[in-house]
Amino acid sequence: MSKINQSIGVLGGGQLGRMLVEAAAPLGLDIRVLDVDGDYPAAGVCPKFYEGSFLDFNDVVGFGQEVDILTVEIENVNIEAIKYLEGNGTFVYPQSFVLEKIIDKGVQKQFYLDHGLPTAPAQFVKGKAEIMEKYTSGELKLPFVQKIRVGGYDGRGVYIVKDEAGLSEILDGPSIIEPLVAIRRELAVIVARSVSGEVKVFPVVEMQFHPTANLVEFLFCPSKIEDERQKYVQDIARDLAIKLGIVGLLAVELFEDDQGNILINECAPRPHNSGHHSIEACITSQFEQHLRAILDLPLGDADLIMPCVMINVLGESGFSGAPLYEGIEETLKIEGVYPHLYGKKNTKPFRKMGHVTIMDHTLEEAISKAKIIQQTLKVKA
Ligand code: ADP
Repeated sequence: MSKINQSIGVLGGGQLGRMLVEAAAPLGLDIRVLDVDGDYPAAGVCPKFYEGSFLDFNDVVGFGQEVDILTVEIENVNIEAIKYLEGNGTFVYPQSFVLEKIIDKGVQKQFYLDHGLPTAPAQFVKGKAEIMEKYTSGELKLPFVQKIRVGGYDGRGVYIVKDEAGLSEILDGPSIIEPLVAIRRELAVIVARSVSGEVKVFPVVEMQFHPTANLVEFLFCPSKIEDERQKYVQDIARDLAIKLGIVGLLAVELFEDDQGNILINECAPRPHNSGHHSIEACITSQFEQHLRAILDLPLGDADLIMPCVMINVLGESGFSGAPLYEGIEETLKIEGVYPHLYGKKNTKPFRKMGHVTIMDHTLEEAISKAKIIQQTLKVKA
């Protein structure tokens, strides 16, 4: 069978699944999606949408057996089912051994430490009681960051403890504890590695977080770090992808601290919010690159076409229900602006409902347009 004729199954029908399906269309790929119901974003664009849970062993095995290659848009899938499929002839990318190293933030952290990859130091704890013991004995000093090992996302499961008062709210459960890094910049870089081992790295992006929602508010590309440092950050991502042996996309989030050190924060083995701008602003989008990598096709050029900003379109606080996109017409009047609305049936405060990419000749011009759009485009109900 030719590579391009292989059928692809995607576990997860959120916006990442939807954009993977959209990227599969120009290549005429046979792509299918599994998620719990047809209201999920990918269902709106995927004729082969299967209802079932990516957490359920039988659902994942049944779905996986119908395709040649299985991939994910979320890492918390039924890992036993993935292993079963791998043992029975389905290619799964990212592979189970990669997922197992990433799903648990403790295992992930240990991987960086064991392989000499730059990251903040960490202590490993069983739960609240051990944190309190370590604090009382002086082994753990304020301020620190607690990260629940499994199941957190978009800042949920991450708790910054600045002072003694904050200790009363620490989370219970196996966690890693890191010192609070004095962050100068938050960076991200996406790397793709194909079945044959070809590697391509996207340009480094810089992220600015929403002060309360813990979601990316603005993302810029190119980042404001110098070219040489950009190459250094790209090399870290490349090195990590090769050491993990991943097939598919790897999104690496990093910090630059106030001393200029680059530290890996975490990584995700799939397309990522920090690569959405690549749909219009890079020669090859992250979604197409992921498909090329898992099909073992030549990887595309990942270079940036024009400076850009990406903003997430979040549900306004105070509104829940069927979404109304206020200001979409005014947004579309601005040149170089590409809105992506994910077709979610309901909005709620801070829910990711879409994103907008803004391209311009200079980053400054793109940033001023992005600020206008943030004031203009509102998701209400
Ligand atoms: P998630 O998996 O939920 O995205 P992250 O590990 O990315 O969690 O943490 C969310 C945010 O918390 C980061 O983007 C960063 O702003 C902050 N953060 C995480 N670890 C540290 C740290 N060691 N020091 C300072 N801030 C941190």
